[in-house]
Amino acid sequence: MGRCTGCRKQIQNFCHVHQEFVCLECLVGSPGHARCYVGSYRGWVQDSSYPWPPKCVICSKELLSDDGVTRLTCLAIVEDSCLMNLVPPDGQCPHCETCLVPPPTDAGAIAQALRTKLKDVPWVNKFSSSIEGFIPEQGDPVSVSDNNVVIEMGAGANTKRSSTGVQKLVDRESVHQSGIVPELDEDDKQLKAQKEKGRRIFISALRFFRAHRRETFFLFVVLLCVLISVSVIRAAISQGTANVDRRRDAARAFQETTRSPRNFGIFK
Ligand SMILES: [Zn+2]
Ligand SMILES: [Zn+2]
Ligand SMILES: [Zn+2]
Ligand SMILES: [Zn+2]
Repeated sequence: MGRCTGCRKQIQNFCHVHQEFVCLECLVGSPGHARCYVGSYRGWVQDSSYPWPPKCVICSKELLSDDGVTRLTCLAIVEDSCLMNLVPPDGQCPHCETCLVPPPTDAGAIAQALRTKLKDVPWVNKFSSSIEGFIPEQGDPVSVSDNNVVIEMGAGANTKRSSTGVQKLVDRESVHQSGIVPELDEDDKQLKAQKEKGRRIFISALRFFRAHRRETFFLFVVLLCVLISVSVIRAAISQGTANVDRRRDAARAFQETTRSPRNFGIFK
């Protein structure tokens, strides 16, 4: 969870491109995020990659401009022309099978904008009648509240990467068997694991600070103020004790001069 950079609302949707939290109102309202890949913050911490340029979810063409694109309720992006003319026969998003026409129960900003856009499109009636009495089930993608709509467009990339990971594992295995590379002993392995863990913690901390720039800056300023005031107070205290010391020394010196025997003559 974090605060939307535009309106400070608590949300969990995170723009991977601008690396900031963005609520659905601001996502639809501000033209800057028109083509951005938006997912959960947690998802971004695990994998910050995103497809660029993004592709139209219907025809897979690369979207090179912010103009003429529409955000679906599942957060996928389509070209206006595809949305108007090339709608899939089942009326669903080809990526996640969410109905392209938002159900009447969805009062989110994206659903409202989409409804306005689809108002006079002929194919919409065919699907809107079938979802008129639609009651979203628990956990259904379209029933999820405004803040929680999340898509995982990186799924394809993930599977590809994990399969190459398997490939690497196999390669290493064969290397082991051929006996070219000596096995790491336990200490080395532990050291490596610790280093890896430290690196991961560092990276996630870095990402956290990047995502919460404003909060981090505020915290930094507060810390600086505290440090400055502490040093000022300490300086004042040491100044005060120095003054007291000086006065005490002066008093003692005076006492000693009045007490010293050679001065007695003055008082006789
Ligand atoms: Zn916002
Ligand atoms: Zn963005
Ligand atoms: Zn398209
Ligand atoms: Zn979708």
